[in-house]
Amino acid sequence: MINFHPPYRIIDAHTHMGLEYCLYHEYYDADSIVKYMDEVGVETIFTSTCEDLMDGDSKRTQIVDAMKRYPDRIRGYYAVNPLLGYSKESIQKAFDENPGYVGLKFLPDYHRTNLTDSVYAPAFEWANEHGALVLSHTWGVSMNGESCNSHDKITGVLEKYPNIMFIMGHSCQGQVDEAIAIAKHFKNAYLDLCDTSRLNGVIEKMVREVGANQVTFGTDVPMQGFCFQLGCVLGAKISDDDKKLILRDNALDILKRSGRMLKNEEEKQHA
Ligand SMILES: [Zn+2]
Repeated sequence: MINFHPPYRIIDAHTHMGLEYCLYHEYYDADSIVKYMDEVGVETIFTSTCEDLMDGDSKRTQIVDAMKRYPDRIRGYYAVNPLLGYSKESIQKAFDENPGYVGLKFLPDYHRTNLTDSVYAPAFEWANEHGALVLSHTWGVSMNGESCNSHDKITGVLEKYPNIMFIMGHSCQGQVDEAIAIAKHFKNAYLDLCDTSRLNGVIEKMVREVGANQVTFGTDVPMQGFCFQLGCVLGAKISDDDKKLILRDNALDILKRSGRMLKNEEEKQHA
C-alpha cells in the first residue's frame, strides 16, 4: 500500500522563481510559491530566480528579499551567468551577507558555455574551497546539437574540484546511465530527479545502482509542478526509508555540511 502522505515535509532542491520568457505560472513569486508549498507539504525549496539566471541586469533583489522573508522556507542559489561576468569576491560577499544562500547555480546549455570552460573556474574554485553545493543544469545533447553539460564535462569538473557537492540537474537526461556511473564513482555527485523522475523505472535503477543517499528531489517549480514528480517518488518501488532520504534527508545533510541548516532543525538537534 503506497502512502501518499508521508509523515515528514518535503525539501525540493531544484526550483525556480519568477516569470520566464514564454511561460506563465500561477505560482511564481515568494508569497504564492510558499502558499503552494503549504498546499502540497513542502517545507523548503532551494531556488534560483529566472531574473538572476536570464536577465542582463540582474540585481538579485528578488532572491535576497525572498530569503529574508522566508528564511527556512526559501533557500537561494547564487546564479552564475558567465555571459555577465562575476568574481569570487562577489560570491563570497553575497554568502556573507545572506545566510539563506545554499549554493551556486549554473546553466551551461542556456548560456552556451561549456561546464569545463575557464569562465566557470573562479566559481568552482570558490565552491571547492568551501565544500559548497553546486547545482548545474546537465543534459546529454541539447536540441541545438550542443553538449555544454554532458557526462564528459561533468566528469571533468568532478575530477578537478573534489570538495564540491555537485547536483547533476536532470541527471544528464539522454545520458542517465552515464550519470548513474558518475554517481557510483564520485560520492560527492547527486542524481537530480527534476523532470527525469518521469522516466519509467529510473528511480528504482538509481537507488539500486548508486543508493538513495545520492539522489535528490527536484521539480523545476514553477515551470513544472510538485505533484506529478512527488508522485513518481512516493509511488516508486523503493523502501520508505529511501523515499525519505530522497524527499528530505539528503537535502538536510547538504544544508548541514554547508553550515546552513534550517533553524527549526538546529533547534531540534539542540533540544
Ligand atoms: Zn531548473
